[in-house]
Amino acid sequence: MLTLVQYRSGVCNTANCRRKRECTKRHKKHSTTSCKSAPIPQAQLPTPVKVRPASTVAQEQDEKSETYTSLAPDERGQTMALLFFLQTLAVSTVAAQGRFVDLTHALDTNTVYWPGSPSFKFNILSRQQQDSFWYESNNFSTAEHGGTHIDSPSHFSKNQWRLHEIPLNNLIGPGVVIDISARAEKDPDTQVEIADLFQWEEKHGKIPEGAIVLMNSGWDKYWPNKTAVFGSSTPNNSSTFHFPGFSPRTARWIIANRKYINAIGVDTPSIDFGQSRDFQTHVTVFGANIVGLENVANLSRVPVTGATVFAIPVKIRDGSGGPLRIFAMINDVNRAGINHPEILCMMVTFISILLI
Ligand SMILES: [Zn+2]
Ligand SMILES: [Zn+2]
Repeated sequence: MLTLVQYRSGVCNTANCRRKRECTKRHKKHSTTSCKSAPIPQAQLPTPVKVRPASTVAQEQDEKSETYTSLAPDERGQTMALLFFLQTLAVSTVAAQGRFVDLTHALDTNTVYWPGSPSFKFNILSRQQQDSFWYESNNFSTAEHGGTHIDSPSHFSKNQWRLHEIPLNNLIGPGVVIDISARAEKDPDTQVEIADLFQWEEKHGKIPEGAIVLMNSGWDKYWPNKTAVFGSSTPNNSSTFHFPGFSPRTARWIIANRKYINAIGVDTPSIDFGQSRDFQTHVTVFGANIVGLENVANLSRVPVTGATVFAIPVKIRDGSGGPLRIFAMINDVNRAGINHPEILCMMVTFISILLI
Protein backbone atom coordinates (compact mmCIF):
# COMPACT_ATOMS: atom_id res chain seq x y z
CA MET A 1 0.00 0.00 0.00
CA LEU A 2 1.29 3.46 -0.87
CA THR A 3 0.62 6.90 0.50
CA LEU A 4 0.98 10.19 -1.35
CA VAL A 5 2.79 13.06 0.33
CA GLN A 6 3.01 16.46 -1.32
CA TYR A 7 5.78 19.07 -1.36
CA ARG A 8 6.02 22.68 -2.35
CA SER A 9 8.89 24.54 -4.00
CA GLY A 10 12.24 24.52 -2.28
CA VAL A 11 15.86 23.48 -2.63
CA CYS A 12 17.17 19.92 -2.56
CA ASN A 13 20.17 19.67 -0.30
CA THR A 14 20.65 15.94 -0.58
CA ALA A 15 24.23 15.29 -1.61
CA ASN A 16 23.55 12.11 -3.60
CA CYS A 17 20.35 13.28 -5.23
CA ARG A 18 20.11 11.36 -8.52
CA ARG A 19 17.64 13.75 -10.14
CA LYS A 20 18.91 17.00 -8.77
CA ARG A 21 17.21 19.25 -11.27
CA GLU A 22 13.68 18.07 -10.59
CA CYS A 23 14.28 17.96 -6.85
CA THR A 24 15.53 21.52 -6.86
CA LYS A 25 12.23 22.57 -8.31
CA ARG A 26 9.94 20.48 -6.18
CA HIS A 27 11.40 19.62 -2.74
CA LYS A 28 12.04 21.74 0.28
CA LYS A 29 14.00 18.89 1.82
CA HIS A 30 13.90 15.10 1.67
CA SER A 31 15.78 11.93 2.35
CA THR A 32 17.78 9.91 -0.17
CA THR A 33 14.90 7.39 -0.31
CA SER A 34 12.32 10.01 -1.23
CA CYS A 35 14.69 11.52 -3.74
CA LYS A 36 15.04 8.19 -5.54
CA SER A 37 11.30 7.81 -5.82
CA ALA A 38 10.87 11.36 -7.04
CA PRO A 39 9.99 13.01 -9.25
CA ILE A 40 6.52 11.97 -10.28
CA PRO A 41 5.88 13.78 -13.57
CA GLN A 42 3.66 16.79 -12.93
CA ALA A 43 1.53 16.05 -15.96
CA GLN A 44 0.21 12.87 -14.25
CA LEU A 45 -1.03 14.62 -11.12
CA PRO A 46 -2.93 17.82 -10.35
CA THR A 47 -0.20 18.83 -7.83
CA PRO A 48 3.38 17.63 -7.34
CA VAL A 49 3.44 14.43 -5.24
CA LYS A 50 5.81 11.79 -4.01
CA VAL A 51 4.86 8.11 -3.54
CA ARG A 52 5.86 6.52 -0.28
CA PRO A 53 5.42 3.09 1.30
CA ALA A 54 2.74 2.84 4.02
CA SER A 55 5.35 1.74 6.53
CA THR A 56 6.77 5.25 6.56
CA VAL A 57 3.48 7.05 7.17
CA ALA A 58 4.05 7.47 10.93
CA GLN A 59 7.43 8.96 10.28
CA GLU A 60 5.90 11.25 7.71
CA GLN A 61 3.33 12.55 10.16
CA ASP A 62 6.17 13.68 12.40
CA GLU A 63 7.65 15.65 9.57
CA LYS A 64 4.70 18.05 9.33
CA SER A 65 6.84 20.91 8.12
CA GLU A 66 7.64 18.91 5.04
CA THR A 67 4.03 18.36 3.90
CA TYR A 68 2.01 20.90 1.87
CA THR A 69 -0.98 20.73 -0.46
CA SER A 70 -1.15 23.95 -2.43
CA LEU A 71 0.78 25.39 -5.41
CA ALA A 72 2.55 28.72 -5.39
CA PRO A 73 0.49 31.46 -7.14
CA ASP A 74 2.74 31.49 -10.22
CA GLU A 75 2.47 27.70 -10.57
CA ARG A 76 -1.32 27.86 -10.24
CA GLY A 77 -1.51 30.42 -13.03
CA GLN A 78 0.63 28.31 -15.33
CA THR A 79 -1.40 25.19 -14.57
CA MET A 80 -4.67 26.98 -15.29
CA ALA A 81 -3.26 28.32 -18.55
CA LEU A 82 -2.14 24.82 -19.56
CA LEU A 83 -5.55 23.33 -18.76
CA PHE A 84 -7.30 26.09 -20.68
CA PHE A 85 -5.02 25.52 -23.66
CA LEU A 86 -5.74 21.80 -23.68
CA GLN A 87 -9.48 22.42 -23.38
CA THR A 88 -9.50 24.93 -26.24
CA LEU A 89 -7.40 22.61 -28.39
CA ALA A 90 -9.84 19.75 -27.79
CA VAL A 91 -12.87 21.91 -28.63
CA SER A 92 -11.29 23.27 -31.82
CA THR A 93 -10.26 19.77 -32.89
CA VAL A 94 -13.83 18.51 -32.51
CA ALA A 95 -15.19 21.55 -34.37
CA ALA A 96 -12.64 21.13 -37.17
CA GLN A 97 -13.77 17.54 -37.70
CA GLY A 98 -17.12 18.94 -38.80
CA ARG A 99 -20.09 16.88 -39.92
CA PHE A 100 -20.63 14.78 -43.01
CA VAL A 101 -23.26 14.80 -45.76
CA ASP A 102 -23.51 11.75 -48.01
CA LEU A 103 -23.83 12.87 -51.64
CA THR A 104 -24.33 9.36 -53.00
CA HIS A 105 -27.44 7.56 -54.27
CA ALA A 106 -27.30 3.92 -53.11
CA LEU A 107 -26.79 1.41 -55.92
CA ASP A 108 -29.76 -0.94 -56.32
CA THR A 109 -31.98 -2.40 -59.01
CA ASN A 110 -33.75 0.99 -59.41
CA THR A 111 -30.51 2.80 -60.26
CA VAL A 112 -30.76 4.96 -63.39
CA TYR A 113 -28.23 4.20 -66.19
CA TRP A 114 -27.50 5.92 -69.46
CA PRO A 115 -29.44 4.26 -72.34
CA GLY A 116 -27.67 1.18 -73.67
CA SER A 117 -26.12 0.21 -70.35
CA PRO A 118 -27.27 -2.94 -68.54
CA SER A 119 -29.03 -2.31 -65.23
CA PHE A 120 -27.58 -3.04 -61.80
CA LYS A 121 -27.73 -6.69 -60.74
CA PHE A 122 -27.46 -8.05 -57.24
CA ASN A 123 -27.58 -11.79 -56.49
CA ILE A 124 -27.51 -13.34 -53.06
CA LEU A 125 -25.03 -16.24 -52.86
CA SER A 126 -25.37 -16.95 -49.17
CA ARG A 127 -27.43 -15.53 -46.32
CA GLN A 128 -27.71 -18.19 -43.64
CA GLN A 129 -26.62 -19.50 -40.27
CA GLN A 130 -23.61 -21.81 -40.42
CA ASP A 131 -22.60 -24.15 -37.58
CA SER A 132 -21.13 -21.42 -35.39
CA PHE A 133 -21.61 -18.12 -37.28
CA TRP A 134 -23.84 -16.14 -39.63
CA TYR A 135 -22.58 -15.78 -43.22
CA GLU A 136 -23.61 -13.43 -46.05
CA SER A 137 -22.13 -13.07 -49.53
CA ASN A 138 -23.44 -11.59 -52.81
CA ASN A 139 -22.58 -10.97 -56.42
CA PHE A 140 -23.24 -7.64 -58.10
CA SER A 141 -22.63 -6.22 -61.55
CA THR A 142 -22.85 -2.67 -62.83
CA ALA A 143 -22.00 -0.60 -65.88
CA GLU A 144 -19.53 2.24 -65.34
CA HIS A 145 -21.87 5.13 -66.18
CA GLY A 146 -24.93 4.84 -63.95
CA GLY A 147 -26.05 5.98 -60.55
CA THR A 148 -23.74 8.34 -58.68
CA HIS A 149 -20.52 7.84 -60.62
CA ILE A 150 -17.28 9.35 -61.84
CA ASP A 151 -16.19 9.98 -65.43
CA SER A 152 -12.46 9.44 -65.98
CA PRO A 153 -10.91 12.01 -68.33
CA SER A 154 -10.21 9.10 -70.72
CA HIS A 155 -14.01 8.78 -71.19
CA PHE A 156 -13.92 11.58 -73.80
CA SER A 157 -10.22 12.36 -74.21
CA LYS A 158 -7.63 9.95 -75.58
CA ASN A 159 -4.48 9.38 -73.50
CA GLN A 160 -5.87 11.16 -70.43
CA TRP A 161 -6.25 9.51 -67.04
CA ARG A 162 -8.15 6.25 -66.80
CA LEU A 163 -9.85 5.49 -63.50
CA HIS A 164 -6.96 3.87 -61.65
CA GLU A 165 -4.60 6.65 -62.77
CA ILE A 166 -6.49 9.57 -61.20
CA PRO A 167 -4.38 10.76 -58.23
CA LEU A 168 -6.17 10.82 -54.86
CA ASN A 169 -5.19 14.47 -54.61
CA ASN A 170 -7.51 15.17 -57.57
CA LEU A 171 -10.47 13.48 -55.90
CA ILE A 172 -10.58 15.68 -52.79
CA GLY A 173 -11.02 19.45 -52.66
CA PRO A 174 -12.93 22.46 -51.41
CA GLY A 175 -16.58 22.31 -52.46
CA VAL A 176 -17.93 25.14 -54.64
CA VAL A 177 -21.69 24.73 -55.01
CA ILE A 178 -23.36 26.65 -57.85
CA ASP A 179 -27.06 26.79 -57.06
CA ILE A 180 -29.25 27.12 -60.18
CA SER A 181 -32.22 25.24 -58.70
CA ALA A 182 -34.66 28.16 -59.01
CA ARG A 183 -33.84 28.52 -62.71
CA ALA A 184 -33.93 24.75 -63.34
CA GLU A 185 -37.39 24.55 -61.80
CA LYS A 186 -38.71 26.68 -64.69
CA ASP A 187 -36.31 25.61 -67.46
CA PRO A 188 -34.91 22.04 -67.59
CA ASP A 189 -32.55 23.08 -70.41
CA THR A 190 -30.79 25.72 -68.32
CA GLN A 191 -27.02 25.47 -67.88
CA VAL A 192 -24.30 26.71 -65.54
CA GLU A 193 -22.99 29.81 -67.27
CA ILE A 194 -19.84 31.90 -66.72
CA ALA A 195 -22.02 34.53 -65.03
CA ASP A 196 -22.97 31.95 -62.35
CA LEU A 197 -19.28 31.45 -61.50
CA PHE A 198 -18.73 35.23 -61.43
CA GLN A 199 -21.66 35.59 -59.04
CA TRP A 200 -20.22 32.94 -56.75
CA GLU A 201 -16.79 34.60 -56.79
CA GLU A 202 -18.27 38.03 -56.05
CA LYS A 203 -19.71 36.67 -52.80
CA HIS A 204 -17.04 34.17 -51.74
CA GLY A 205 -13.79 35.10 -53.48
CA LYS A 206 -11.87 33.35 -56.23
CA ILE A 207 -12.63 29.65 -56.76
CA PRO A 208 -9.95 27.92 -54.66
CA GLU A 209 -7.12 25.68 -55.84
CA GLY A 210 -8.19 22.05 -56.30
CA ALA A 211 -11.89 22.94 -56.05
CA ILE A 212 -14.69 20.51 -56.81
CA VAL A 213 -17.31 22.68 -58.53
CA LEU A 214 -20.79 21.21 -58.18
CA MET A 215 -24.00 22.22 -59.92
CA ASN A 216 -27.06 22.08 -57.66
CA SER A 217 -30.13 22.13 -59.90
CA GLY A 218 -32.37 20.38 -57.36
CA TRP A 219 -32.55 17.41 -59.73
CA ASP A 220 -31.87 14.75 -57.07
CA LYS A 221 -35.48 15.08 -55.93
CA TYR A 222 -36.48 13.13 -59.06
CA TRP A 223 -34.26 10.13 -58.25
CA PRO A 224 -34.82 7.29 -59.23
CA ASN A 225 -37.79 8.16 -61.43
CA LYS A 226 -36.23 7.50 -64.83
CA THR A 227 -38.54 9.69 -66.93
CA ALA A 228 -38.18 12.61 -64.51
CA VAL A 229 -34.39 12.21 -64.19
CA PHE A 230 -33.95 12.31 -67.98
CA GLY A 231 -36.74 14.86 -68.40
CA SER A 232 -38.32 12.70 -71.08
CA SER A 233 -41.19 10.31 -71.52
CA THR A 234 -38.89 8.20 -73.71
CA PRO A 235 -35.88 7.59 -71.43
CA ASN A 236 -34.27 5.19 -73.90
CA ASN A 237 -33.90 7.94 -76.52
CA SER A 238 -31.18 10.38 -75.49
CA SER A 239 -32.18 12.94 -78.14
CA THR A 240 -35.32 13.66 -76.12
CA PHE A 241 -33.54 14.39 -72.84
CA HIS A 242 -34.03 17.65 -70.93
CA PHE A 243 -31.93 18.26 -67.81
CA PRO A 244 -29.38 20.93 -66.77
CA GLY A 245 -25.58 20.75 -67.06
CA PHE A 246 -22.47 22.91 -67.51
CA SER A 247 -22.45 24.84 -70.79
CA PRO A 248 -19.45 24.34 -73.13
CA ARG A 249 -18.81 28.10 -72.84
CA THR A 250 -18.36 27.70 -69.10
CA ALA A 251 -16.09 24.68 -69.62
CA ARG A 252 -13.86 26.68 -71.97
CA TRP A 253 -13.73 29.59 -69.52
CA ILE A 254 -12.70 27.20 -66.72
CA ILE A 255 -9.86 25.79 -68.83
CA ALA A 256 -8.69 29.30 -69.73
CA ASN A 257 -9.01 30.82 -66.25
CA ARG A 258 -9.48 28.22 -63.49
CA LYS A 259 -7.68 25.20 -64.89
CA TYR A 260 -6.38 24.37 -61.40
CA ILE A 261 -9.73 22.93 -60.23
CA ASN A 262 -9.99 19.17 -59.67
CA ALA A 263 -13.50 18.33 -60.85
CA ILE A 264 -16.89 19.52 -62.00
CA GLY A 265 -19.99 17.67 -60.88
CA VAL A 266 -23.74 17.69 -61.44
CA ASP A 267 -26.88 16.29 -59.80
CA THR A 268 -28.11 15.23 -63.26
CA PRO A 269 -27.04 12.26 -65.48
CA SER A 270 -24.40 14.20 -67.48
CA ILE A 271 -22.09 17.22 -67.09
CA ASP A 272 -23.36 18.26 -70.57
CA PHE A 273 -27.02 19.26 -70.47
CA GLY A 274 -29.64 16.84 -71.80
CA GLN A 275 -29.99 18.45 -75.22
CA SER A 276 -26.25 18.30 -76.00
CA ARG A 277 -25.30 16.43 -79.16
CA ASP A 278 -21.54 16.82 -79.19
CA PHE A 279 -20.73 16.62 -75.45
CA GLN A 280 -18.32 19.53 -75.67
CA THR A 281 -18.24 20.07 -71.92
CA HIS A 282 -16.99 16.50 -71.48
CA VAL A 283 -14.44 16.94 -74.27
CA THR A 284 -13.17 20.30 -72.99
CA VAL A 285 -12.66 19.56 -69.28
CA PHE A 286 -11.41 16.00 -69.78
CA GLY A 287 -8.75 17.34 -72.16
CA ALA A 288 -7.27 19.07 -69.09
CA ASN A 289 -7.59 15.98 -66.85
CA ILE A 290 -10.43 17.56 -64.85
CA VAL A 291 -12.73 14.73 -63.77
CA GLY A 292 -16.55 14.62 -63.99
CA LEU A 293 -19.03 13.61 -61.28
CA GLU A 294 -22.62 12.73 -62.21
CA ASN A 295 -25.94 12.02 -60.43
CA VAL A 296 -24.62 13.61 -57.23
CA ALA A 297 -27.20 13.72 -54.39
CA ASN A 298 -28.11 16.01 -51.48
CA LEU A 299 -26.33 19.15 -52.67
CA SER A 300 -29.01 21.35 -51.09
CA ARG A 301 -27.62 20.17 -47.73
CA VAL A 302 -24.12 21.43 -48.53
CA PRO A 303 -23.20 25.12 -48.04
CA VAL A 304 -22.11 26.90 -51.22
CA THR A 305 -18.70 27.28 -49.60
CA GLY A 306 -17.03 25.90 -46.45
CA ALA A 307 -17.12 22.16 -47.19
CA THR A 308 -14.45 19.71 -48.25
CA VAL A 309 -15.67 17.18 -50.83
CA PHE A 310 -14.32 13.63 -51.08
CA ALA A 311 -15.16 11.85 -54.38
CA ILE A 312 -13.74 8.36 -54.03
CA PRO A 313 -14.46 5.82 -56.80
CA VAL A 314 -13.86 2.08 -56.93
CA LYS A 315 -10.33 1.60 -58.29
CA ILE A 316 -10.98 -0.21 -61.57
CA ARG A 317 -7.89 -0.64 -63.72
CA ASP A 318 -8.32 1.10 -67.10
CA GLY A 319 -11.90 2.15 -66.26
CA SER A 320 -13.51 5.05 -68.15
CA GLY A 321 -15.55 5.68 -65.00
CA GLY A 322 -17.22 3.81 -62.19
CA PRO A 323 -19.33 3.80 -59.03
CA LEU A 324 -18.51 6.66 -56.69
CA ARG A 325 -18.86 7.26 -52.96
CA ILE A 326 -18.95 11.02 -52.65
CA PHE A 327 -19.47 12.98 -49.44
CA ALA A 328 -18.92 16.44 -48.01
CA MET A 329 -17.28 17.28 -44.71
CA ILE A 330 -18.76 20.55 -43.52
CA ASN A 331 -16.56 22.50 -41.20
CA ASP A 332 -18.89 24.44 -38.88
CA VAL A 333 -16.00 26.67 -37.81
CA ASN A 334 -15.38 27.52 -41.44
CA ARG A 335 -19.05 28.28 -41.90
CA ALA A 336 -18.65 31.00 -39.28
CA GLY A 337 -15.94 32.50 -41.50
CA ILE A 338 -12.98 31.33 -39.39
CA ASN A 339 -10.70 29.44 -41.72
CA HIS A 340 -7.95 28.64 -39.23
CA PRO A 341 -9.42 27.44 -35.88
CA GLU A 342 -5.96 26.61 -34.57
CA ILE A 343 -5.02 30.31 -34.79
CA LEU A 344 -8.18 31.28 -32.92
CA CYS A 345 -7.29 28.67 -30.29
CA MET A 346 -3.78 30.06 -29.84
CA MET A 347 -5.04 33.64 -29.59
CA VAL A 348 -7.58 32.76 -26.90
CA THR A 349 -4.92 30.87 -24.97
CA PHE A 350 -2.44 33.75 -25.19
CA ILE A 351 -5.03 36.23 -23.91
CA SER A 352 -5.94 33.87 -21.06
CA ILE A 353 -2.27 33.67 -20.01
CA LEU A 354 -2.09 37.45 -19.87
CA LEU A 355 -5.26 37.66 -17.79
CA ILE A 356 -4.41 34.92 -15.26
ZN1 LIG B 1 -20.65 9.05 -66.92
ZN1 LIG C 1 -20.48 11.91 -68.38
